[in-house]
Amino acid sequence: MRILIIEDEPQLARHVNVALHRHGHEATVHHDGASGLKAALTTPPDLIVLDVNLPTIDGFEVLARLRAAKCSVRVLMLTSRGEVGDRVRGLKAGADDYIPKPFAMEELVARIEALGRRSGAPVQAAALQVADLHMNVQQRRVLRSGEPISLSPREFDLLQVLMEEPGRYFARTELYDRVWQREHSYDSRTVEMFITRLRKKIDSEHPQPLIHNVRNVGYTIRADEAARDKP
Ligand code: CA
Repeated sequence: MRILIIEDEPQLARHVNVALHRHGHEATVHHDGASGLKAALTTPPDLIVLDVNLPTIDGFEVLARLRAAKCSVRVLMLTSRGEVGDRVRGLKAGADDYIPKPFAMEELVARIEALGRRSGAPVQAAALQVADLHMNVQQRRVLRSGEPISLSPREFDLLQVLMEEPGRYFARTELYDRVWQREHSYDSRTVEMFITRLRKKIDSEHPQPLIHNVRNVGYTIRADEAARDKP
């Protein structure tokens, strides 16, 4: 992948750069927000590793300007540990993932590669899987731990959107647009109600919940929320 690193701490930027090259990626480094943004808009990379606190313009502003320019490149933000606000702000601003500093380099590389896999063409896979939840898209069948789950057509569509991009947070409005395709005027309670029903059918009888939400950010499906959200 072609990866743009926007990080002002020279030593950290160098370590990330070296680690990514070692894993076969092509990485370039910019040490301030303005030059990083310019590079991203001139030659869009496959992925951006974006620090929050940067000289000239900060990471949130870089992200906002990228999204305003309709640049949909995947962005992983480097946030300060303990600052939950940074994480929520980053996700709301359109970051695809975040990793709190300090982090283990292997974890950063793993997150980057996972994001890269998600950034391919829209998934049209016949089979989707998150933990022990399986979906056969063609047959419109869903199994959890091998047990069939009966879903209404709308519940199935909603679950499919979530399962196509595990770990990505979807705002209610986006889910509404994707599943209901603006048949009715937007009503946030519709999405909530369907999520509640899905949770009941998918998660209620299992110790590991898969559907998660972050207040004011949205909904996601993934297997590892508990592990990731521990301080
Ligand atoms: Ca910094």
